Amino acid sequence: MNENDLIATHFKRLRTDQKKALEKLGIATIRDLFYHFPARYENAGPTGTISSATAGSDVTLYGTIRKPKTRKAWKSRRPIAEAWLEDASGRLKIMWFSQPYIAKTLADGMVVKATGRMAGTSEKLYLANPEIERTPVKPEDVHDSLFANASEDIERQLYPIYPESKGISSLWIYHAIKKCIASGVHEQMEDAVPNEMLERYHLPKLATALVWMHLPRTLENSQSARKRFAFEEVFTIQLLMARRREESAQKNALRVTVDREALNDFIKSFPFKPTRAQTHAINTIVDDFEKTHPMMRLLEGDVGSGKTAIAAATAYLVATSRPPNRKSGTLQVAYLCPTEILAKQHFETFISFFKDHPIQIGLITGSECRKFPSKISRKKSTRISRAQFQKWVANGEIPIVIGTHALVQKTLNFKTLAYAIIDEQHRFGKVHRQELAHKNGLTPHLLSMTATPIPRTLALTIYGDLDLTLVDQMPLGRKPVITKVLGPEKRDDAYTLLRKELAEGRQAYVVCPRIEEPDPTKELALQAKSVKAEALRLQKYIFPDVEIGILHGKMKPSEKEESMRKFTDGKTQILVATSVIEVGVNVPNATVILIEGAERFGLAQLHQLRGRVLRSSKQAYCFVLPESYGTSTRDRLNALTKAKNGFELAEYDLSLRGSGELYGKHQWGVSDVAMEALRNVKLVEAARTEAYAIIKSDPNLMEHGALASLAHKRESTLHGE
Ligand code: ADP
Ligand code: MG
Repeated sequence: MNENDLIATHFKRLRTDQKKALEKLGIATIRDLFYHFPARYENAGPTGTISSATAGSDVTLYGTIRKPKTRKAWKSRRPIAEAWLEDASGRLKIMWFSQPYIAKTLADGMVVKATGRMAGTSEKLYLANPEIERTPVKPEDVHDSLFANASEDIERQLYPIYPESKGISSLWIYHAIKKCIASGVHEQMEDAVPNEMLERYHLPKLATALVWMHLPRTLENSQSARKRFAFEEVFTIQLLMARRREESAQKNALRVTVDREALNDFIKSFPFKPTRAQTHAINTIVDDFEKTHPMMRLLEGDVGSGKTAIAAATAYLVATSRPPNRKSGTLQVAYLCPTEILAKQHFETFISFFKDHPIQIGLITGSECRKFPSKISRKKSTRISRAQFQKWVANGEIPIVIGTHALVQKTLNFKTLAYAIIDEQHRFGKVHRQELAHKNGLTPHLLSMTATPIPRTLALTIYGDLDLTLVDQMPLGRKPVITKVLGPEKRDDAYTLLRKELAEGRQAYVVCPRIEEPDPTKELALQAKSVKAEALRLQKYIFPDVEIGILHGKMKPSEKEESMRKFTDGKTQILVATSVIEVGVNVPNATVILIEGAERFGLAQLHQLRGRVLRSSKQAYCFVLPESYGTSTRDRLNALTKAKNGFELAEYDLSLRGSGELYGKHQWGVSDVAMEALRNVKLVEAARTEAYAIIKSDPNLMEHGALASLAHKRESTLHGE
């Protein structure tokens, strides 16, 4: 066995559905299997009695085997092995599907420990495909004490519980890994993390860590292994980031002429006084403009914190700078937006900022090209042909170009692109960033903007190649959204207020959680409100006379657009949606957001959802309705009413949420193990320091072969790249 062997080479009898499941889990090779880490461990002690086992739960039961036999399933004719398991409290059917040989290994009267998942209905419960171990406890030692006293005699063991997919159970993975470890293949794998580094941070070597991760004797072992793999991952990401940074430091920047007086005059013409945070961000960017290598900066600020004005002020300096060795023309700015609506909105905003200046502004989207000012009126923009637009951008006549991804297309060439601004950057991934950066072979200054509040350690990791500036202040006089966390008995209060707002012509969102529950038969998933069901319920029982629309990820793009348009046009008053509305939706007339199953969302995410109703000058409301209303849920959710900004919430979130609740892979392209480690500032900083030191001495990782291949693998999976 070799770590790079395909799974199918060593597990020959894989069914098609199992192959599909493995693919879905991202497991192709033996190595992938080893890196498929348990989400948690279960203590397989004498945890329960047969009569108390409930459907859907993971159990470990001690008992006596009765009447093992094999039969064929009635319809499918699939072979089934079955037996009864008996303890003093009752008896239970055990079934193994497609594993008839198991019955032969069991004998009537055998005392076993069975670990598996309860299946069936509460009337007809059975234990499905359990792990069976003969136990040293004899039935006569136990009497009718329900095995309670036997616990000391039995060696305690931790069972890993893995993320599963239909066809591949946690137990299957457990067995597969046991087989691999038995073959000794893990001993042959090369450890990419240098030995002295492991020693420095007291981390186990790869082979040890793999055993401790998958078959730990103690919880400390598994924690130590998790820490090691988290370090490995964060360190690898930091290597990539350090290299990118090193690369950009090698490049020359186009020199922007920094005329601070002119800049101040420009800012004075804004219809508002910039906040301290805005001024700070502008100054930081201006300082970057004066350096010899291109800026790479991430601007993080809550929705409404005024990032557009920061972009405009700094764009002004660029659009009034003369290119090197030229007597006419100016440097150019590209402003990339994720949607057409946003691009148009920014175009209009820029026009209002630049109306008194002789600077042309262009808009390019999939559907049109526009230029400001028009020939006829100094106050208006006109539509122009794509060819004309391309010509004017290529000869440098339009210094500021705002657009959607149409901006990135090869047909659009700039004469001297010196500044690239990317709005809502997490929606693009780094491909666009790099494409923009390489237009015409010059490396422009880069400003990435985002409203997604993420903890500092996460930013340091996934955006490690960027410098970070926070806009941690809102403009004065903004009415905060009135936020209330409501228990079940207060639900009607929310509906009463909602009705009042609707009567005044306003609109509302109702958000239902999307479930990331691996097992859809689990109770939690069944309880959770689905968008469709909730829309029906509201229509039928609560708001029969109101037009209700729905929006969720499973809808076709055209259906989504249609639904969005109806809501934007006011044809529907309530939009019941999943968290897809989190980004990009801007309906100023919507003043209420009601969030169901709120405890399933991260605080930062709830904060962003709430941002959807912040766009209006009217008083807005956010009702947070958890499904279960315990003290800890209430305390966590109440942070929403207290926190000053999204960053505070993101930090709080990271410190509070359990593993498996952080959705790292899903959202950021880092594993759950690494997400857990991001709570540990020291670990992240250590990984960063080590990575930068290595890149400094060996920029192309020539002397670190295993690290290079790890980094290479990483490059393709990180953050939507
Ligand atoms: P975001 O950071 O979400 O991109 P915007 O740039 O769209 O925020 O700004 C939101 C609103 O706040 C805009 O209407 C803008 O004109 C206004 N605004 C920005 N800065 C200030 C300020 N310093 N004082 C008052 N209003 C401001
Ligand atoms: Mg914005």
